[in-house]
Amino acid sequence: MATPGNKLAFDGGWGYDPAPESTDHIDVKSRYGLFINGDFVKPEKGKYFDTINPATEDKLSRVAEASAVDVDKAVKAARAAYRGPWGRMKPAERSKYIYRIARIMQERACEFSVIESLDGGKPIRESRDVDIPLAAAHFFYYAGWADKLEYAFPGRTAKSLGVAGQIIPWNFPLLMASWKIAPALACGNTVVLKPAETTPLTAMKLAEVIADAGLPPGVVNIVTGAGAAGAAIVDHPGVDKVAFTGSTNIGRMIQKSLAGTNKRYTLELGGKAANIIFADAAIDQAVEGIVNGIFFNQGHVCCAGSRLFVQESVADEVIAKLKDRMETLIVGDPLDKNTDVGAINSTMQLDKIQSYLKIGQAEGGDMHQSSCTLPNKGYWCRPTIFTGVSQSSRVVQEEIFGPVLAIQTFRKYDEALTKANNTPYGLSGGIWTDKGSKIFNMTQKIRAGVVWANTFNKFDPTSPFGGYKESGVGREGGLHGLDAYVKLGVK
Ligand code: NAD
Repeated sequence: MATPGNKLAFDGGWGYDPAPESTDHIDVKSRYGLFINGDFVKPEKGKYFDTINPATEDKLSRVAEASAVDVDKAVKAARAAYRGPWGRMKPAERSKYIYRIARIMQERACEFSVIESLDGGKPIRESRDVDIPLAAAHFFYYAGWADKLEYAFPGRTAKSLGVAGQIIPWNFPLLMASWKIAPALACGNTVVLKPAETTPLTAMKLAEVIADAGLPPGVVNIVTGAGAAGAAIVDHPGVDKVAFTGSTNIGRMIQKSLAGTNKRYTLELGGKAANIIFADAAIDQAVEGIVNGIFFNQGHVCCAGSRLFVQESVADEVIAKLKDRMETLIVGDPLDKNTDVGAINSTMQLDKIQSYLKIGQAEGGDMHQSSCTLPNKGYWCRPTIFTGVSQSSRVVQEEIFGPVLAIQTFRKYDEALTKANNTPYGLSGGIWTDKGSKIFNMTQKIRAGVVWANTFNKFDPTSPFGGYKESGVGREGGLHGLDAYVKLGVK
């Protein structure tokens, strides 16, 4: 029997049997306080909010809503730990704690994956094979740097900054937390982190791991809440560095409020990546890469390949193959190991995506969606493509953050390049071609922080990641990721 919501449009009408991951081994408490100074504490104002499973709309837990008073306590705890045990600790000792976090995270990988999929709606295959292993890999990688900072920047000294205020989005909750916490700790800073309001649970589990790893109280503080809690972190005078990942609009507001202060900042913002398929590309491989880049993980990826430019001579073939492949995508239960496309993260995000589907059609675009049956409850969107759109279409220019792909064609190399760069964003891009020369040429000219060639959405803790233009300021990952958490001086 096919899983509800999944239809494989093969002639025989067969489908995969359901293969749901068990939830028996996970421990989600009915309520979480704020993780401040090594303990889960009640919020000052006693307010909590629900976090729900977007695939079922069931309540998973209640989490504390931090006020400015709670944020102040968290910053003070972080400052005390910075002046105290963490600041005084030898780097090699600090590194042992970071390794310990990585190892405990690996031991609990299965629990983390299931909770990530329950709270965020992403397919278990993604959380199990990408999010959680990469999150642990970042802690392992940065643990290795903690006692080697003096070699990281030749001829320079590297000193920690102090208290880092970190704010993250909902699309890769544990991974984004790890991208931020691991390098901050490796450089000797302490942290106040705020997860997104729709996906706080793996951050709460990470708080448990941090406590189990025996980090001195106050080194990592995790406060939950929405925009007001984030703003309280940004505005707090005791924060030395702000690391923000999220939308360009909020990033802009944060940049304005940081102007004129001495706070350092990095902003990892939105994207509208272009994938470019040349006629000489391995077409089947390219189609699979496009599908991976926009439909897996519901298009909830900052670097999602949401624009596709196909060379005119192969456009019909590519679009036909893409439509066939869309029919075979399994949309449904995020916990099912066969699922390709899970639930949209929240009702707000679904409304936003649906409004863009209307805008795209109103602008004259031809919309095509896979014919899959959607579950009755929860938030869902069928994999969707738009053809017949132009450079000025809003679905081509604006970040939708859903499984929606805008397709255009091109004839000449320069046309592809001009169209790909015609966007306010510059986070990532992809090129599909058989010719190495085209790869080398194009990757130099595409104005994006990351450009993949004949692959897409590949990450590694040793590689820096970040954007040009309205996609952000600064880099995370690799050696560049250390730079964001140190003050450099002359040796
Ligand atoms: P968002 O900007 O709405 O929220 C991000 C975080 O900021 C949340 O924790 C939110 O509570 C907090 N926040 C909201 N208002 C705030 C304020 N005034 N001051 C401080 N914090 C505030 O983004 P989102 O919808 O959660 O995430 C999706 C966005 O994130 C997309 O635009 C995506 O491209 C981007 N993103 C970028 C990267 C990257 O590396 N460049 C990675 C992941 C996601």
